[in-house]
Amino acid sequence: MKIAVIGCTHAGTAAVKAIAAEHPGAQITVYERNDNISFLSCGIALHVGGVVKDPEGLFYSSPEQLAALGVDTRMRHEVLQVDAAAKMLRIRNLTSGEEFQDSYDKLVVTTGSWPIVPDMEGIKLDNIQLCKNYFHAKEIIARAEGARRVAVIGAGYIGIELAEAFCELGKEVTLLDNMDRVMAKYLDHEFTEIAEEELTARGIRAALGEKVSRFKGENGRVTTVITDKGEYEADLVVLCIGFRPGTDLLKGQLDMLDNGALLVDEYMRTSNPDVLAAGDSCAVRYNPTGKAAYIPLATNAVRMGTLAGKNLTEQKVKYRGTQGTSAIKLFDLNIASTGMTEAAAEAAGLNAAAVTLRESHRPDFMPDIEEVLLKIVYEKDSGRLLGAQILSKADLTQAANTLSVCIQNRMTAEDLAYVDFFFQPHYNHPWNLLNKAGLVAEEQRAKAADDAAEDHGAGAAEEAAEVQGAQAAEEAAEDHGAKAAEEQGADAAEEAAEVQGAQAAEEAAEVQGAQAAEEAAEDHGAKAAEEQGADAASERKQGKAQRVSA
Ligand SMILES: Cc1cc2nc3c(=O)[nH]c(=O)nc-3n(C[C@H](O)[C@H](O)[C@H](O)COP(=O)(O)OP(=O)(O)OC[C@H]3O[C@@H](n4cnc5c(N)ncnc54)[C@H](O)[C@@H]3O)c2cc1C
Repeated sequence: MKIAVIGCTHAGTAAVKAIAAEHPGAQITVYERNDNISFLSCGIALHVGGVVKDPEGLFYSSPEQLAALGVDTRMRHEVLQVDAAAKMLRIRNLTSGEEFQDSYDKLVVTTGSWPIVPDMEGIKLDNIQLCKNYFHAKEIIARAEGARRVAVIGAGYIGIELAEAFCELGKEVTLLDNMDRVMAKYLDHEFTEIAEEELTARGIRAALGEKVSRFKGENGRVTTVITDKGEYEADLVVLCIGFRPGTDLLKGQLDMLDNGALLVDEYMRTSNPDVLAAGDSCAVRYNPTGKAAYIPLATNAVRMGTLAGKNLTEQKVKYRGTQGTSAIKLFDLNIASTGMTEAAAEAAGLNAAAVTLRESHRPDFMPDIEEVLLKIVYEKDSGRLLGAQILSKADLTQAANTLSVCIQNRMTAEDLAYVDFFFQPHYNHPWNLLNKAGLVAEEQRAKAADDAAEDHGAGAAEEAAEVQGAQAAEEAAEDHGAKAAEEQGADAAEEAAEVQGAQAAEEAAEVQGAQAAEEAAEDHGAKAAEEQGADAASERKQGKAQRVSA
């Protein structure tokens, strides 16, 4: 079986060693365009700052060591083209200029990443440096010798480490970032505020929230960094603004994230079954979200490389994903983080909460104690741990590794509260700080549940009141209607009665009047008749008498 590996730093070296162990009879060829393998770039700042005197210590393998495993390592050989369908490579020997082709049965892509270089005015000026490999490390050290003012662009881990190294060398250091906090990807503001105070106290100028727009220079060499808010003089500029996966060779042939990171499954297989990949050239499974993400770290690279080697022909060992666990020493501060910050969890739309504890790292009766700041981030509903950060002058960074295990295994705040940790006064309290964080998180969750229940009760009462109110109003309206109707009815009846009464009275009066009139008339008539009759009788009587008397 012919196996080709492209690139041999951390992922490549790990893959090659695993392949050699798993497939002793295989023909393994490594193509590396550089003149060294397995360089630990994490040592660059230490070398620049003079902590690591001998750069040879920054390599942990060599072509000779790999040769002893039966591996053919072709140094200064750049792979120019990959034809994944035909399983063919085109390669250039960078020393001789010769180009040739090679075939493979299985290909392992460990081409890593390259620093992002912004396309802006003045970017090609001399003394604007990248910081990635051994060549860069040597260049930075050489150019720093003649530089008084150094500008570091990018306040992530690498930029911070370099700023500290230049400060230790007595340079005037300006650290620039367009974010308004340092290390904003890894730490929340409670932590970055302390880090920023430390930088300022050490004389490093932090120009945060400023976007670099161009560089000015004299005689082809950089003199000034210009941002949207100011200008900073610099004899040396180091760019540390992030990395891009080096996967142009595979574009259009393998599935990738938008930034070019290769998508691999849990056995490090790409979308082509005969091509495996590992390290900075790939996306990783980020356990807090369960999604593919680009987190270029040496830790991921060595694990993924080993798995690519083990799983080359059979699916033997699964990748467990990552929390992006990392640490940094900033002067006297030991800082570490794992998983999501609270800000990142919010930005991802997770329903998260956090506990922040500021305590002594061991009992007060001990001769010296240090303050420790610990934060854990968890999912409100499930209590699942999402992330953690820790900072102290005491080295408690291993707590981030412990919490990384918790996150990877989907442990909850309650699990953390009651997991078994040792107590020994030299190191901690009877309640370990991590237990305590879990306990406080559980209290918060219980309170949140109570509040929610109360809110729910209040809401239900409000709803009930609304319903009752509506019913009462309805009933009242009904009653009112009935009453009104009654009243109207009464009024109407009254009116009707009045009208009727009046009419009746009128009619009665008419009738009575008529009767009375009639009667009266009758009476009157009778009376009149009577009176007339009486008058006539009297007249007749008087006439008779007159006649008698006459
Ligand atoms: C200054 C600095 C400090 C860091 N500190 C830390 C730290 O403290 N902790 C941590 O976990 N990580 C750290 N990292 C990140 C870590 O270095 C990377 O994640 C790691 O190097 C990735 O390893 P890799 O093998 O995947 O890729 P790379 O290191 O990028 O190696 C890829 C290799 O492939 C070769 N190559 C690429 N294309 C071709 C081609 N076409 N033909 C032939 N060869 C090719 C390159 O020459 C290179 O040797 C740091 C990085 C830097 C720059």
